[in-house]
Amino acid sequence: MLGIKTENDARPSGDGWIGPAPSIEMSLPGPNAKAMIERDERCSSPSNTRDYPLVVRRALGSVVEDVDGNRFLDFAAGIAVCATGHCHPKVVEAIQQQAASLMHICGSDFYYPAMVDLVEKLVSIVPGKGAKRVLLTNSGTEAVEATMKLSRFHTGRKWIIGFHGAFHGRTMGALSLTCSKARQKEGFGPLVPMIAHVPYGDVDAIESQLFKYQMAPNEVAAIFVEALQGEGGYVVPDPSFLTGLRALCDKHGILLVCDEIQSGAGRTGKWFAYDHAGITPDITLMAKGLASGMPLGAVIAREGVMNWPPGAQGSTFGGNPICCAAALATLRLVESGFMANAAKLGEHLLSELRAIAERRKVVSNVRGLGLMCGVDIINRRTGKADPKLREKLLKAAFDRGLIMLACGDRSIRFCPPLCINETQLDVGLKLFDEALATVV
Ligand code: PLP
Repeated sequence: MLGIKTENDARPSGDGWIGPAPSIEMSLPGPNAKAMIERDERCSSPSNTRDYPLVVRRALGSVVEDVDGNRFLDFAAGIAVCATGHCHPKVVEAIQQQAASLMHICGSDFYYPAMVDLVEKLVSIVPGKGAKRVLLTNSGTEAVEATMKLSRFHTGRKWIIGFHGAFHGRTMGALSLTCSKARQKEGFGPLVPMIAHVPYGDVDAIESQLFKYQMAPNEVAAIFVEALQGEGGYVVPDPSFLTGLRALCDKHGILLVCDEIQSGAGRTGKWFAYDHAGITPDITLMAKGLASGMPLGAVIAREGVMNWPPGAQGSTFGGNPICCAAALATLRLVESGFMANAAKLGEHLLSELRAIAERRKVVSNVRGLGLMCGVDIINRRTGKADPKLREKLLKAAFDRGLIMLACGDRSIRFCPPLCINETQLDVGLKLFDEALATVV
């Protein structure tokens, strides 16, 4: 099998080197993985969606090792979470140091340096000159949930607008705003009222349909948008979509909320996907890559928007000291190199994917920004989505030692850790190409 050793695979001291990837020694799943899956399936919620049987023992950089010692290249980063790679030594060190001094005190009730340092840092990376304020949460969905409340509270209006294909989370409020797959909502109604959706990319539909038939613009609190739609299929909108939304919100006094939970923290080669369109939202949401895998979300609002009083919002664990320390280490690493790496390697990834799409007719619609790229997998004859083919492809890639994830109804996403290097990217693309060859 292909084996490479690169500086991103190993800890600087060399003591954590877990070996080259890919390295697949057996047909998958191996015996330890099989046993683990059997135990899991007896006790875990059946709502989990596992596309293939990966059981992870440890991971470092862009390499993941399973419980049987097989090693994989990671093109999914735990769903775009491990921004700095798995277990980056500087993030691990920050977590260890923080854990040894303060694990919890509750940021809603008291103060601590890690939280103060982090909110100051977040305020500095979000565009816009005026003062800003930050609320820290445990997850993306809670950041969305809190922002739905804040939008209604701040504006005194009730309606919230989102987009087809949007994914904003699974708690009741965020789920009501999510419009990605019907299955995610099935059986859970009634959902939060006064939420409407229009097609992603279509600003005109808001004025010509919603404002005409459904609600007056002066009753709309907020528009929630992913500047690069994630779960809906890694859809890159025309920049005029975001500038159009900004103008519409300004015209009607509506808050523009950019959900950068998947696309933020440097993944697209800039801090935020909306930076590519040059807009400044009223509220920016972060989570996922923010703390390299520790559970943390953030709501960052421009001056005056976060005007709710003490007690209006709070959380026992939100902004936990260890998560804040991990986030500070993450943001330092992203700023000092990984964001630039995402921009540079993103170009390379796109051009290699375009070359693959030239050769393999089941691959189409190559798109992306930085290390957030997607392709569609389509039926060669009909040109339509082919979910079975996509499933086979993911499994064939896994069998070769490449971890990938689907998104939308026809897409595969490429969202490796931002520390990945060109050699690893090329090896992964070769595995993807080989997997394609076996399924078509
Ligand atoms: N918003 C976006 C854009 C997401 O991609 C996700 C998760 O995939 C969420 C919100 C929800 O985040 P979490 O899973 O941390 O609740």
